[in-house]
Amino acid sequence: MDRIYRVTQDGETFVAVERGGELRRAGGDPFTSLSVGAAVRGGLAGVTLRAPVAPSKIVCVGLNYKDHAAEQGKTLPAEPLLFIKPSSAVIGPGDPIRIPPGVGRVDHEAELGVVIGRRARRVPAARAWDHILGLICVNDVTARDLQKKELHNTRGKSFDTFAPIGPCIATGLNGAPREVEGWVNTERRQASSTKHLIFPIEYLVEFVTFVMTLEPGDIISTGTPEGIGPIKAGDTVKVKVDGVGELVNPVEDDA
Ligand code: MG
Repeated sequence: MDRIYRVTQDGETFVAVERGGELRRAGGDPFTSLSVGAAVRGGLAGVTLRAPVAPSKIVCVGLNYKDHAAEQGKTLPAEPLLFIKPSSAVIGPGDPIRIPPGVGRVDHEAELGVVIGRRARRVPAARAWDHILGLICVNDVTARDLQKKELHNTRGKSFDTFAPIGPCIATGLNGAPREVEGWVNTERRQASSTKHLIFPIEYLVEFVTFVMTLEPGDIISTGTPEGIGPIKAGDTVKVKVDGVGELVNPVEDDA
């Protein structure tokens, strides 16, 4: 299993791979022909982490955990509810989530994301993993009051900085159940497992790629479990996915 990072050191940004506990400089194309080179000085402690990928789109799934549907007072969907977060919302580990003025409540949503590695169009579920590069943590930050008011997701989900992703792309994994947690400061607010997904990863790849082509680097974010809650300036938010890593972001007011 590799963990693929994008990092900055001494003003240079490059792709690095954690393999066997060591961080090494990567060459080639992470999607097709990743090669592993020299060790990175200082390892992960010696670099600044960036968003590991630049998706052309993040396709999100609403209400994909039964417990979250219940806490939102919604009936279970018969089909996945899709919406898109724009690439302009993406930030990396450590980058601040900025709360826009006057939008009311803003929530964290801890989610497991799937990073596409090979262009995917009308991919059957049985072939889904042929098109997946790896897994990633996503925080589907949501302006809840706007979402409820409008009954649409575009405005409330799409503010700049509302799509933290990272800290890495974890490869060599599969759809086996894994724990998903959302933390605010020292409080664990979300703790669930992808075994509770209503629509599993493989089905989501089939369903989404029937609609739109997914390019390498695009992300499907699989939805959030119960326990969502508000965040405010001064908080530190963490999304933790078992076997993938921890995505940590501070929260600031956007003046
Ligand atoms: Mg969500």
